[in-house]
Amino acid sequence: MTALFEPPASAATGAGDWLRSARDRLEAVGIESASLDARMLLLDGLGLPHSVIVAEPNLALTPEELERLEAMLGRRLAREPVSRILGWREFYGRRFKLTPDVLDPRPDTEVLVEAALEEIDQRFGPDHACRLLDIGAGSGAIAVSLLAERPAWRGVATDVSGAALQVAGENAAAHKVADRLEMVETNWAAGVSGPFDLVVSNPPYIASPEIATLMAEVREHDPAPALDGGADGLDAYREIFACAGALLGDGGVLLVEIGAAQAGQVAALAVEAGLVSSADEVRNVADLAGHPRVLIVPAVAGNA
Ligand code: GLN
Repeated sequence: MTALFEPPASAATGAGDWLRSARDRLEAVGIESASLDARMLLLDGLGLPHSVIVAEPNLALTPEELERLEAMLGRRLAREPVSRILGWREFYGRRFKLTPDVLDPRPDTEVLVEAALEEIDQRFGPDHACRLLDIGAGSGAIAVSLLAERPAWRGVATDVSGAALQVAGENAAAHKVADRLEMVETNWAAGVSGPFDLVVSNPPYIASPEIATLMAEVREHDPAPALDGGADGLDAYREIFACAGALLGDGGVLLVEIGAAQAGQVAALAVEAGLVSSADEVRNVADLAGHPRVLIVPAVAGNA
């Protein structure tokens, strides 16, 4: 009589067993985040509540669930990031859809979002109807997060990739800011007119020769144009700084994400472009690892 209710033998694997086995297999190929990755695939991949691990560690997995988990694990073992396997990533507390057309937003970029909110609140007050421009918006992580945090703000997001802008548009809609964010398919900020109170960008900043040395998760899965900053990695800053002065209004500010060792060079480019008269006027904010990660470049009165 019990036989009727017994799951098939292949479903005998419990969630906890799979978790340990997945972790071991990830560790065996040298994936450092093996434990976390296995958990995310199990819980987020199957859409299980995170309490399952504690409440029902031996939850029986169906053959279909096991098959899905093994397929996801196979992709991770082949160095695809968990966020790409799931098709989304959490950024600044919100879920962002990802496709192969967009850079996977990084926790480092949350530092830029935080710094931008603080800058504008300090300069104009928290209720100011800030107008922002996000150059090279990718998934829209920066612009959408800022607009979601500040209901009075509006903005423009550019990207040279129409496919990326499509994803940004979906993320804007998912977070209910689409009516405040205009999408413009263009190179950098070509054809966009200010004035903006805030210009932000996390541009490609890896030197072309270094791309081949990046970990496979990045090299093979982030879109090359979103990474490649040209021969010295700084091409995007030259482009952005060349137009930023004319785009910023009075009291406006430009925030750019930079590579870990680029603060001095990028600040020097801001001086060369005439955005500031001295590199001392450029401040930087460190990421969680303590590297300067965001430069804050104030607009100089009369620059526009
Ligand atoms: N602005 C997007 C992000 O920060 C995309 C950046 C990029 O593609 N270089 O995630």
